[in-house]
Amino acid sequence: MLEVENLTKYYGDLCAVNDLSFRVEEGELVTLLGPSGCGKSTTLHSIAGLVEPTEGHIRLREKDVTDLPPEKRNIGMAFQSTALFPHMTVRENIAYGLQMHGNTSDDIETRVDESLDLVDMPDHGDHKPGELSGGQQQRVSLARALAYEPDILLLDEPLTGLDRVLREEMRGWLNRIQREVGVTTLYVTHDQEDALSMSDRVIVLDDGHDQQIGSPERIYESPANPFVAEFIGKSTQFDGTVTHEDGRAVVYNDSKAITLPDSAIEGDKSVSLYVRPEDIKVHSEPTDSENEFSGTVRSIANLGNRAEITVEFEDGLTALAHTTRFPDITVGDKVFLRFPADRVIVL
Ligand code: ADP
Repeated sequence: MLEVENLTKYYGDLCAVNDLSFRVEEGELVTLLGPSGCGKSTTLHSIAGLVEPTEGHIRLREKDVTDLPPEKRNIGMAFQSTALFPHMTVRENIAYGLQMHGNTSDDIETRVDESLDLVDMPDHGDHKPGELSGGQQQRVSLARALAYEPDILLLDEPLTGLDRVLREEMRGWLNRIQREVGVTTLYVTHDQEDALSMSDRVIVLDDGHDQQIGSPERIYESPANPFVAEFIGKSTQFDGTVTHEDGRAVVYNDSKAITLPDSAIEGDKSVSLYVRPEDIKVHSEPTDSENEFSGTVRSIANLGNRAEITVEFEDGLTALAHTTRFPDITVGDKVFLRFPADRVIVL
């Protein structure tokens, strides 16, 4: 459906996007996720025709659109700043987009009504954008982008700037609309929760290049490299060197021997290990199991459905564990952390 092939963009000497290739299939919601400055917007704007690539090709429905102007690409866009015209009503804003795409006036009225229904705002057509909440403005912006039935919808940080509760609500809402309409969508965000909760697939970008492309589950459970492991989700990191003991692979850092999953890992290799907080159990007594280490509780953040506990080991390293509900421990307690070998990510 959308094919980005070897996309490269230089601004002077600065390489903003570096030989990036990916595909988005019909009806998929794919997220471009990465830190600020990694090249997300440049990629999106190249697809929209707002930025001219230095090298590479963009294909939409098998057609090479690399040299076509934006208005010839049948792409719908919605931005973080909604870019609605403040002096026009909601209806006029949506109609304006349709006129730009050559729709006739009869058709326009029907399409405006349909798109306002789609975003659950049938009674807001005569309001000006300034009279609407942030979330409502985003919905109008989406209605405008969808009204002319684009081949692909490009969303650039549409939820940034909304408060947490509204943001979570809008995620579910956007997902529902996207599935309902079945529109192929490329979603740009620096927010991993947006990406993990909404996407069919995620493209993790850093320095203008893809670090990993995969389902949310895959990039969380099996990150391809330390950048992805550290950017997506929280974890406790141990660095060390692999040795083999009794047929098991073990990593030694200065003070600990950590047993690894049963897979062939070469000896004498320096590795970084990552353990997710939900895989670490907190005990008040030792059980003499493998991968059990003692430490002191440094902080407890109760998050309602779980608590996030920071524990400092004797060697100064800190670990992060999640417990269910409110744990029966306090700051300063000595505790024992334990994690199964098969939950250790080795990179
Ligand atoms: P992101 O959307 O991930 O924050 P951008 O695509 O906006 O990243 O930017 C990637 C890099 O390109 C950054 O270093 C940014 O400063 C630079 N950049 C973006 N737009 C321009 C421009 N018009 N002129 C010069 N440099 C730019």
